[in-house]
Amino acid sequence: MSTSASSSSALKAPSLGKEDGLFDHIPLMRPWIDEDETEAITAVLKSGWITQGQKAIEFENTVAEFIGNKYAVATNSCTSALHLGLRLSGVGPGDEVICPSYTCMATANAIHMAGAEPLFVDIDPLTYNTDAATTEAALSPRTKAILLVHQIGLPADRDAFVALCSKRGLALIEDAACSFGAKYKGLNLGAVGKAVAYSFHPRKMITTGEGGMLISDDKEMADMARILRSTGASVSDLERHKHKGTLVQQYLDTGYNYRFTDMQAALGLMQMKKLPQMLAERKAQAEYYNQVFAPVEAISGPFVPDYAQHSYSSYIVKVHRDAKVNRDQLLEAMAARGISCRVGIQPLHYEPFYKERMSRLDLPNTEQAARDTIFLPIFPGLPEADLERIASTLVDLVSGKQRV
Ligand SMILES: *Cc1c(COP(=O)(O)O)cnc(C)c1O
Repeated sequence: MSTSASSSSALKAPSLGKEDGLFDHIPLMRPWIDEDETEAITAVLKSGWITQGQKAIEFENTVAEFIGNKYAVATNSCTSALHLGLRLSGVGPGDEVICPSYTCMATANAIHMAGAEPLFVDIDPLTYNTDAATTEAALSPRTKAILLVHQIGLPADRDAFVALCSKRGLALIEDAACSFGAKYKGLNLGAVGKAVAYSFHPRKMITTGEGGMLISDDKEMADMARILRSTGASVSDLERHKHKGTLVQQYLDTGYNYRFTDMQAALGLMQMKKLPQMLAERKAQAEYYNQVFAPVEAISGPFVPDYAQHSYSSYIVKVHRDAKVNRDQLLEAMAARGISCRVGIQPLHYEPFYKERMSRLDLPNTEQAARDTIFLPIFPGLPEADLERIASTLVDLVSGKQRV
């Protein structure tokens, strides 16, 4: 087996070692940050300009070019990027926005921040994403927009949602937080679209500590997002600085502080250089898991439809009824053997905040996914020996060869 995807690449994620203090313990995930990032951030600190400036623009341009769309607006988080995308799509108080319950609380928070209410729909049991038919059945006269989540690194069938939105006059906003580098019909998510949001939190594909990006093909949306991102001012700090303070800003609207710092941008630019290697390592690791798990009837790995290329920000496994252990026992048994796994995603309609208001919801596929799935470690630099140990331990446990 070989998980080193391109041996010709100069970049290689460092393996876990004693210095990580994790020698006997495999983490779920670890960002790949080394001297390159440290030096890049130090250079920004020494430059005297640390908040949003030239580096942030450079990072935006690099991401826009990679994604293949016209505009990229960096923000302090994906939540902020989603909020801007919703607000600039005309979502406001009294509106309802459809999204999955099987997602990060941040998805729904962005809807509340825009003054609207989320309505949760069920997912497809194979892809863990929402589908257009289920979504269409849930539409109400109050529905203003669909917030489509591309969950766990797997693109949803966005063309079906584009068709639905155009048929019913709805806005489409996309949460691609954890799917940077994934592809839909050969293109990056956000290569087409008006409001597609990414996250650069350390749990995602590349990291800037915290950070996000709104991708758009719409000039007006991008221009307004830049204004709202920085207090609603018509002139950015950098433009004012370049004019030696002679440019005066106006406030055409109330805004936010969603700015992205040049320190984050320096980190992001280094991460972009590592992205091809990161994607290749994750893919090779996922393919190894796939191949080991394929003959094991008690579990299934991720299903990837023909239209998609998975980025494997997480590797999800479904534990079937006939497994010798249930999901929770499996999680504990893996932890006892020094392997950190996690329950997949906690549905939002289980949360105290939603329990009352969503009491009538029936989301069987979401509930089954919450009960039966587990995330396995996957990240650049995960040693092959560890990968093999994770896979064989899991198989032994579900088939009863190792006792819990
Ligand atoms: C991580 C995540 C977010 C939130 O991203 P932040 O950058 O932390 O705001 C939103 N949606 C999904 C699906 C996520 O995985």
